[in-house]
Amino acid sequence: MIDWNKIEQKWRAKWEQSKEFETEPNQREKKFITVAYPYPNSPQHIGHGRTYTLADVHARFLRMRGYNTLFPMGFHYTGTPILGMAKRVQEGDKELIENFEKLYHVPRDTIKEFVEPVKIADYFHEEIKLGMIEMGYSIDWRREFTTIDPVYKKFIEWQFRKLKGLNLVVQGSHPVGWCPKDQNPVSQHDTLGDVEPDFTEYILIKFHYDGMIVPTATLRPETIFGVTNLWINPTVKYKKIKVDDETWIVSPECARKLEFLDKEISPLGEVNGSELVGKSVSVLDKSVPVFPASFVKSDNGTGVVMSVPAHAPFDYQALEDIKKEKCPVQEIARNIKPISIIKTEGFGEIPAKEAVDRLKIQDQNDPRLEEATKDVYAKEFYGGKLRENTGEFAGLKVSEAKDSIKEWLHKEKKSDILLELNNGPVRCRCGAECVVKILNDQWFLNYSDKTWKEKANKCFEEMSILPNEIRTEFNYVVGWLRERACARQHGLGTTLPWDKDWIVESLSDSVIYMAYYILAKYVNSNELFAESLSDEFFDHVFFGSGDSAKISSNCKIPEDLLKKICTDFAYFYPVDARHSGRDLVPNHLTFFVLNHVALFPHENWPRQIVVNGSVLMDGKKMSKSMGNIIPLRQAIKQYGADPIRLAIIISAELLQDADFNLDSVNTIKNKLENIYDECARYRPAKISSQESEDRWILSRLQHLIGQTTAALEKMRLREALHHILFTFESDLQWYLKRAEAKQRNDVSAILHHILTLRVAMLCPFAPHIAEEMWERLGNQGHVSGSAWPESVSQEDTKSVQVEELLRSVLEDVKNILKVTKITPKKIVLYTADRWKVNAYQKIARDVIVGQTNIGAIIKDLIANKETENVKKDPDFVKKTINAVLAEPVEMRRIRAENEPINEIQVIKSELSALIRKEFGVELEAFEESDPAKYDPKNKAKMARPFKPALLIE
Ligand SMILES: [Zn+2]
Repeated sequence: MIDWNKIEQKWRAKWEQSKEFETEPNQREKKFITVAYPYPNSPQHIGHGRTYTLADVHARFLRMRGYNTLFPMGFHYTGTPILGMAKRVQEGDKELIENFEKLYHVPRDTIKEFVEPVKIADYFHEEIKLGMIEMGYSIDWRREFTTIDPVYKKFIEWQFRKLKGLNLVVQGSHPVGWCPKDQNPVSQHDTLGDVEPDFTEYILIKFHYDGMIVPTATLRPETIFGVTNLWINPTVKYKKIKVDDETWIVSPECARKLEFLDKEISPLGEVNGSELVGKSVSVLDKSVPVFPASFVKSDNGTGVVMSVPAHAPFDYQALEDIKKEKCPVQEIARNIKPISIIKTEGFGEIPAKEAVDRLKIQDQNDPRLEEATKDVYAKEFYGGKLRENTGEFAGLKVSEAKDSIKEWLHKEKKSDILLELNNGPVRCRCGAECVVKILNDQWFLNYSDKTWKEKANKCFEEMSILPNEIRTEFNYVVGWLRERACARQHGLGTTLPWDKDWIVESLSDSVIYMAYYILAKYVNSNELFAESLSDEFFDHVFFGSGDSAKISSNCKIPEDLLKKICTDFAYFYPVDARHSGRDLVPNHLTFFVLNHVALFPHENWPRQIVVNGSVLMDGKKMSKSMGNIIPLRQAIKQYGADPIRLAIIISAELLQDADFNLDSVNTIKNKLENIYDECARYRPAKISSQESEDRWILSRLQHLIGQTTAALEKMRLREALHHILFTFESDLQWYLKRAEAKQRNDVSAILHHILTLRVAMLCPFAPHIAEEMWERLGNQGHVSGSAWPESVSQEDTKSVQVEELLRSVLEDVKNILKVTKITPKKIVLYTADRWKVNAYQKIARDVIVGQTNIGAIIKDLIANKETENVKKDPDFVKKTINAVLAEPVEMRRIRAENEPINEIQVIKSELSALIRKEFGVELEAFEESDPAKYDPKNKAKMARPFKPALLIE
């Protein structure tokens, strides 16, 4: 049994002592690996471990490949969640305090201090850091910082003054997700379940009724020309409100939404939906009736719906229903005819009717109305044209008319705007339900800016994105991004340099901090101080502008120190890889690119983004409420860091969700323990013998190195780990079987060599146990600091063919014995004649280029003297084509392109020992046309290349 924790402590101490991961500029090429820093409001659990583990494997791999690799870490204190937690502690929130105590095991006295937000952050910062150290992350801790450090604040002030100078921070009125309780904009980090509030702009069409306005919300303003009536819910108590200088009738929910949309709102009274039924409202000089409908929801839009039965299946069906029903408005309804306003190829006069009839929909409760609606909308939007009855818009395509009609309605004061959450209800971390608010005179990052978007797209285009399939998501995000509020009124962080009432929010002060890692080292060594730093310092370090002597004296920094900082930055920048979870694609990762392209010259734009999926626990999402959160440090104590690292990695490729479970941790543990035991068995020595199986296993080892390296380069870590731990195992078993059959006692050196390289490749994944194995194998130094195995030689195609032949013959014999259940007294093999070998190679070459037509192949073979014998045995060709097709592509190539092996010789010299060992009998072998052969059953003529004929007696 391995004492994992003991081994881990031993090697962590050694790494620290040898400063293994402290990175300084040198002659070698650098790699700068970063990962989204943690927000310290709780300890890390297994789920958090994934992104950091992947980044660490990446950093360790690159380091072993010879790159001078920097992997730093910081802590993100900015934002409101910690503030909210401190407030809840002040209020004595039982649930939260219980979580701290029972789930996170925070000491009681410490919890008392949590009334101060910074104390919470500091506590979990330390907790997370210890977890990272215990996981064995190869971090250069000299560069650690928090986002409320004074120098960091100076850095963020510089960033914002720069952005403002570029006109990319603007003041204006824009909609944002908003918490009415905290009076603060909200984004993903501020909401329960981490949802980014996502909203849509609806057009409100103003219908007039008795001196008041009854607005309806729509995404299709063109349908105003086809309106026949309104729908209202008779059971809803509507609000009568003053909106600026008009009186509106809307649902209570809508009245609340409007409060946040930059309007003067005051309540005037209430009106029952039922009171409006049967009344007339007017729009565009025409008058339409108001009908009752149960499908109208008061929390959707204004709670009143415009009915366009010719083009909206719901409206059409509801109108049909009302015509059949005995009710006060039945008579008026019967006189209503749908008004067609859009002509679309494939549809007649009334598209909604056709869609409803086609699906045989019976009433307005039929769920297939959704399908009908989507169908009609899509076809009309892309293929429809407005008819003559749409005035000046007649003839326009629907997709083009939409915006002009919207503008016209606005100009004519016939419309307004309603912003509504698409993914509501969204709850703030404080518990309040979020709304959409138009913020006036707020500071926004102008992510709508076209030139900015173009630059970002160029950067994405040039960079590597792993896995590449997520690339389009980034383009999509850049496309829809618009102005984004970049400051808050509360929270920890940096105040806006020109407006001290505002604090830069957490997704805006965390986008270029990778550059700050260069400075952080000098802050931590007490060489850089906030007081003396000015913008010219940052300009000088990051852009090389200004005169170093002058800046040195202005900023009170020794000139050689300033030069050193500049050299460091020039050396380490740009970021070579940015790791993050998939949930940060639509915000952080995209902002990271946007801010880099805005501030830094092209050569310092980021080079790569690596995105990973999340972690499930036994197939379920991890959450406090599910009770399936395992704090990382607790798991390390229980199972060891390396087994956890491997269990996280081996369960999924990058973008998939990883399913963590304890079974796989135990499987991994056993596997690692087996390898560890083996390491004690072999000693380093010079490899002297070069038997066929030796050449073969060394060739397989080269193959393993090649495959593993290629997988790691694409961050296909699961695949790489499988190669190292499992795939190679069957090759090794075969090799041992061969060596044992020959009773060899000189394979220790080869096995030591193989283990050494396997352990080296295991090191990025399981660094602690790999060090222990390395030491056990008697190797020098740390495996972390050793070179990644290089795939140096070509594949040994001869030994590959030999071993494959032996393996398949042995398999054939076994299968026959299994089926016939005889105990063999004698085994005889017959190898194919030379002409068959020639024919085999020709056929294999044909198959490789896609030629499998048997007639054509036979014709070719007969035409050639060397293979003309096929005319006597056409069945041979058919069988050979099938045999070649059954081989892996790689094997086809090897057999087609290389000198054929001498099968009779291989069988006589290499197979006998195996047969003797496995079956306890002697082997005889003959060539097919050997006149002296023993062939009582006339089997020899069945022989094919790589498939000797077989006689068992
Ligand atoms: Zn809130």
